[in-house]
Amino acid sequence: MQDRLGRTIDYVRISVTDRCNLRCRYCMPEEGVPMLQHEDILRFEEITAFMRVAVGQGIVKVRLTGGEPLNRPGIVNLVRMLLDIPGLKDLSLTTNGTLLPQFAPHLKAAGLKRINIGLPSLDPATYAYLTRLGSLDQALAGLKAAIDTGFSPVKLNVVVLRGVNDDLAPYLDLTRRLPVEVRFIEYMTIGPLGEDHYLVPAAELRRKLEALAALEPAEKPQGNGPAQQYFRIPGAPGTVAIIAPMTEHFCPTCNRLRLVADGHLRLCLFGADEIDIKPALRPTVDEEALRRLLEQAMQQKPECMPDTARDYGRAMGSIGG
Ligand code: SAM
Ligand code: SF4
Repeated sequence: MQDRLGRTIDYVRISVTDRCNLRCRYCMPEEGVPMLQHEDILRFEEITAFMRVAVGQGIVKVRLTGGEPLNRPGIVNLVRMLLDIPGLKDLSLTTNGTLLPQFAPHLKAAGLKRINIGLPSLDPATYAYLTRLGSLDQALAGLKAAIDTGFSPVKLNVVVLRGVNDDLAPYLDLTRRLPVEVRFIEYMTIGPLGEDHYLVPAAELRRKLEALAALEPAEKPQGNGPAQQYFRIPGAPGTVAIIAPMTEHFCPTCNRLRLVADGHLRLCLFGADEIDIKPALRPTVDEEALRRLLEQAMQQKPECMPDTARDYGRAMGSIGG
């Protein structure tokens, strides 16, 4: 599919739940987000019916996210159902990792290959502070489970907050030991903390990395992720990269739509503009109507919003990142 600006849209991020077992300060308020009613949440059959149409229209890549996707009962079944769609080339999952010791083998057996883990600190106290309800030991057990189960690549998402978790050295050390792709992500002010002073711009992150180690360029891994350049310490099994949605936004090459758990297609992470697809799914699936809604999304998808948007309509934890 091409949008009205000629951008190829071939990627859908599906937020399967707004619930989460953590409350990361950069993502959710302490009390969580207002919970959706059970009947408002798309059933797996509905998600799959929509994705079958979307894949028919040119979507090749899907990521499951949340909230915490492993909190959604039966998530392994959804993985199987999506992987059954002919033409879907790539399915991945973003998780906080804490439930991976239990889920990793089942996800692997269902056919999932790629996992991203949100790991905002390698210091136990900072991790507990940032996630409010999490323990670093649990998250590291999840990371180990992902690697031991054979997921590859395993990417780590690190949202960097100035003065909180902006010491990047422990992550560089981790890449010396483990085959992980660490992605330092600029804090997006869409988060509940709001304030801009937490944002560490990509240029500064780059300088910090260069001051810590002599890095060499690494090959860009499979997939068309938002990180442009990957680096590694010579000989290290892991890599580092920077994702800069705020200061070097990638709107001109944006390739994605987001499906929120309550059945709204979100056209841009930063904008409240959404299209409700439930009327095309209930009471029965209307494939023609779904195609029309996708076409509408292509016409309506905004050009670029990060600099101007102030009304996001939802918390990050409900959009799915
Ligand atoms: N619970 C899963 C997790 O934590 O990875 C999936 C959902 S979470 C909303 C998806 C990703 O959004 C996180 O990994 C984190 O990197 C990113 N994220 C959340 N809040 C953010 C913020 N304010 N700025 C930048 N990235 C953010
Ligand atoms: Fe939950 Fe992920 Fe948001 Fe943290 S970043 S609160 S783990 S949804």
